[in-house]
Amino acid sequence: MSSAAHPLSGLGWTAERAVEFAPLAEAGLLPGRISRVDRGRCEVLLADPDTGGLRTVRAESPPVGAADRTDGPCTGDWVAVDPSAQPVPAISAVLPRTTAVVRKGANKRSEGQVLAANVDTVLIAVSLAAEPDLGRVERFLALAWESGAEPLIVLTKADLVNDAEFVRADVEAVAPGVTVLVVSAEAGQGVDELRACATGTCALIGQSGAGKSTLTNALAGAEVMTVQQTRAVDEKGRHTTTTRELIPLPDGGVVIDTPGLRGVGLFGGEGINQAFAEIDALAEQCRFDDCGHRTEPGCAVRAALEDGELPERRWESYLKLQRENDWIASRTDARLRAERARHWKIVTKSARTLTRP
Ligand code: GDP
Ligand code: ZN
Repeated sequence: MSSAAHPLSGLGWTAERAVEFAPLAEAGLLPGRISRVDRGRCEVLLADPDTGGLRTVRAESPPVGAADRTDGPCTGDWVAVDPSAQPVPAISAVLPRTTAVVRKGANKRSEGQVLAANVDTVLIAVSLAAEPDLGRVERFLALAWESGAEPLIVLTKADLVNDAEFVRADVEAVAPGVTVLVVSAEAGQGVDELRACATGTCALIGQSGAGKSTLTNALAGAEVMTVQQTRAVDEKGRHTTTTRELIPLPDGGVVIDTPGLRGVGLFGGEGINQAFAEIDALAEQCRFDDCGHRTEPGCAVRAALEDGELPERRWESYLKLQRENDWIASRTDARLRAERARHWKIVTKSARTLTRP
């Protein structure tokens, strides 16, 4: 690191961000990156002028629209911190996100929830200890593509199997355009290769027990995540994790490993098309633009299914994710969307007031 490097550059702070931030800096605000969110309070990593390194502050979140959780600060967000706010420092603005991993609301609250922001690579951890569930891999891929970040599949626990290469071939077949790495954190296999691919901000997703915490520790070269996480129960009786979720890596870059990213019931619309890019390409060759790929003549999808070019399992998986997505979309309440639009207007207005005192 050159002596001129900004302390935040290892976290991904860029010259463009600094330019964007200049008016806020003039107003006395400090740039920082959120490492953890805990109901109303955030942990923010800031430059420490005394050491030239980083320091952590707890800061108050701005109030967000009651029904909307997508515009509140989340792990990975770049924010402006007002250090003089009382009784604790406050987050005055959230900088625009380049990418966002969003959990779609599948419940009564149909709004989504941002789990990680400004992610460059989504690492999908899949354990080799059991036969991989290809449908689940496809679901994670759809989520990853939807975020705007680049997916990368990490097959973990390679030390437990002899036939990792066979599994890699199976997984590659359902992940067009995606790199699939074979790693054993235990044996140190493939970790350097992963480190070389996992630059910038990486978010780890995958089933519980897939080896995410172990991978994070391997990348960090230290025990930063407890493999069996210590959990505390908050005042509402919900379990909250007590570890930090954005971990700066020694050679630059960060890993985001949030408990929220552990579930499998999350993905998105456009992401499905990217995860199943070859199906999209086939559909374009169908004779009719509105082909339903059932009984229509000249259907390229049916032809590919018949000659085995498109495996039946993959087609079913695609249809299943499409159906789920349609269902979620149908539940997206227009009123909530309107409220969100209104809230954004308020946020932009207050940001303007901030920048033009
Ligand atoms: P997480 O829930 O995805 O964070 O998974 P953990 O990192 O907590 O790992 C789950 C279990 O898998 C733990 O018992 C780890 O010791 C084990 N594990 C993780 N990585 C490896 C590995 O490379 N090889 C082997 N043999 N076990 C591993
Ligand atoms: Zn068709």
